[in-house]
Amino acid sequence: MALTIGVDVGGTKIAFGVVDENGGILERGLRHSPAGDPEKMALTIADVVNELAARHEVEAVGIGAAGFVDETRSVIRFAPNLAWREEPLRMKVGELVGLPVVVENDANAMAWGEYRYGAGRGESHVVCVTVGTGIGGGIVLGGDLYRGRWGMGAELGHMQTVPGGRPCGCGNNGCWERYASGSSLLAEAKENAEADPAAATHLLRLGGSVEGIRGEHVTEAARLGDRAALDAFESLAGWLAQGLADLAAILDPGCFILGGGVSGAADLFADRVRDEFAARLTGRGHRPLADIRVAEMGPSAGLVGAGDLARLR
Ligand SMILES: [Zn+2]
Repeated sequence: MALTIGVDVGGTKIAFGVVDENGGILERGLRHSPAGDPEKMALTIADVVNELAARHEVEAVGIGAAGFVDETRSVIRFAPNLAWREEPLRMKVGELVGLPVVVENDANAMAWGEYRYGAGRGESHVVCVTVGTGIGGGIVLGGDLYRGRWGMGAELGHMQTVPGGRPCGCGNNGCWERYASGSSLLAEAKENAEADPAAATHLLRLGGSVEGIRGEHVTEAARLGDRAALDAFESLAGWLAQGLADLAAILDPGCFILGGGVSGAADLFADRVRDEFAARLTGRGHRPLADIRVAEMGPSAGLVGAGDLARLR
């Protein structure tokens, strides 16, 4: 059985595992991410790989990284939440472990994992939207991961959905992730609570104050019927649906997969996203509707996808 190692590197932790050719994880672990120190990062990844490779017969290593990865899948050009700038991670880790290494954007790796072994199984055209603090994306077209000319494709969160809208960390205004992410959900819930405290009794009880409201409070309050929290989810669903309809106009996928932390509360908004998507889609009534599914693999999708991409390198 051909085994690989998948590594999913984020701003706070590194998840890793030994992945088999059915997407199964034979052994897994977590390490603290030395996000501010590229040298230490390469050493930590190599450490983890060498430890696993001593116990398993592995043939390659796939690294999913939260950053802009070049088209040769070798260099991380830039990472908003990590210290990487033009970082030759493939070469550095490859020299330390003596195995073939591929580096992939983390949202691409996650999309690939879901496409191969999760909610996208059996589909050929899949768009994966990771709804967390921001919005990440991965696109599979005709069974191939779409990277773009320079490896920078599928940065879905930065479609400028609202001209002149809310400022985004990327330097532009009105990006999709400023309206349809976990942070926008929280911001709207807080605004709603501020504007109408009587409609936010659960939110305010859970948070102690408007400032004290956290993401998990919004979900919990919505489940208890809190109007301010439900309105925030309704707004999230509308913006998500708008972005998906725009993506369908360009890419015409068979299915969308909603992943990321916010997808854990999909029971509160997925049906509304489906309805609004059907109502906004261009050519509606005269074309099949893409399925809108919830991710199945949770936080494992990234490392399984990275390991699988290393096998298929
Ligand atoms: Zn942006």
